[in-house]
Amino acid sequence: MDKNNYYRSIPKVDILMENEEIRKLSEMYTRDFVLQSVRKATEDLREYIRISESEDEIRKKIDNILEYIKNDLDEYISFNMKKVINGTGTILHTNLGRAVISEDIAEKINKIVTGYSNLEYDLQEGVRGSRYSHFEKIITKITGAEAAMAVNNNAAAVLLILNTFAKDKEVIVSRGELVEIGGSFRVPDVMEHSGVKLFEVGTTNKTHLYDYERAINVDTAALLKVHTSNYQIVGFTESVSLEELIKLGRKYNLPVIEDIGSGVLIDLSKYGLSYEPTVQNSINAGVDIVCFSGDKLLGGPQAGIIVGKKQLIDKLKRNQLTRALRIDKFTAIALECVFREYIDERKAVKNIPVLKMILKSFEEIHQQVKDLYNILNPILGSYCELNIQKCESQIGGGSLPLERLISECLTIKPKSMTTAALEEKLRLQEVPIVGRIVNDYFMLDLRTVTLEDMEIICDTFKKMIVMGEII
Ligand SMILES: *Cc1c(COP(=O)(O)O)cnc(C)c1O
Repeated sequence: MDKNNYYRSIPKVDILMENEEIRKLSEMYTRDFVLQSVRKATEDLREYIRISESEDEIRKKIDNILEYIKNDLDEYISFNMKKVINGTGTILHTNLGRAVISEDIAEKINKIVTGYSNLEYDLQEGVRGSRYSHFEKIITKITGAEAAMAVNNNAAAVLLILNTFAKDKEVIVSRGELVEIGGSFRVPDVMEHSGVKLFEVGTTNKTHLYDYERAINVDTAALLKVHTSNYQIVGFTESVSLEELIKLGRKYNLPVIEDIGSGVLIDLSKYGLSYEPTVQNSINAGVDIVCFSGDKLLGGPQAGIIVGKKQLIDKLKRNQLTRALRIDKFTAIALECVFREYIDERKAVKNIPVLKMILKSFEEIHQQVKDLYNILNPILGSYCELNIQKCESQIGGGSLPLERLISECLTIKPKSMTTAALEEKLRLQEVPIVGRIVNDYFMLDLRTVTLEDMEIICDTFKKMIVMGEII
């Protein structure tokens, strides 16, 4: 094949830049920005001609060069991070952004960040203030702790606490609590990075109080208890309660630190869920320091909240690491908002999306599934088989791992395309719809789908049919 003809038929960069559509894009995004994509397209085409053996394919590529340029530009122009519809039923889905924040809180954040604020300014005294002051009073009142602060996330909180109280010393922790959370937080690794030597005691299934006591030596700086958020050991097991550990800590004058994971502020067993240790419970028991995530069951922004004895919290605030791990104004205001909801538990369960989704009734979900079915079946029915089916939602985020929430989903099985192809197409929509495939059925669990989402789902399917994306 004589490729020279093809090389010659690659449109010249100048000519492409004169194209009506390209010119419009240049006006919007500057000539230089567009020029780069145009150059890249012609270079890629030249390379393609060099390696390809199919004249048909080469011709097609040359004919489609404008599309190629526009697609390339689109990767830079269109937003990468976008709203997604979560049809997985997993409420705290770390890949999908974990805790959803309410509109009310988003509005508050908007007001604070689009102008100046008293983030670190004491309005009363006219002097420099603390970014923790906005939520410290409320969270201490709710939990009964003496003082509070927050850092970037709970992993950072654990790092900071260990580094502050036990650098170059030993911290005793049970082998049954050396957890890994979400693949990237491992208790032993975090301890190592904080400059602390881990002293493991007990076995995977059993740790006794005497295991801790025997391990205490002159280098011991603290006793650590980690909530095994995402798994449970059942059967022949024994662990030391927080109360016992605190007694031991008092006896040897060692601080007891607890990583409680999810940071629940209300007793979830009242609502028919398993009991998850509350922060108040730990404070009541007399723990010195407890830390937890902001965006797990608490339902707030990503943060690591630390509460406990004032003297110790003050020491944390003075650690240079705190400067590197500090929260920004988005988080400070969001935390203040979320904690305010917890002043009245009834408000919390009504206004915090995470709690609302956990407590969403089967009837409510059933109504939503029926409505969605009734709208979608007439338009999708000739392409797909639709059904309503019971399913189980998970809380996720390594919280309450054994809890299964009875839910209902819409299952969709395409008649001629594969279920995997449908799943991919839905995932690539303007507002991506993410679901699960179970036994070759595409499932949308409506526990995590709002009424506004339902409209988007319907519009998306309608559009996909018009565009011939569902066959
Ligand atoms: C989730 C979790 C962490 C990590 O919290 P992030 O806020 O995700 O950093 C640490 N410890 C425990 C026990 C957890 O459950």
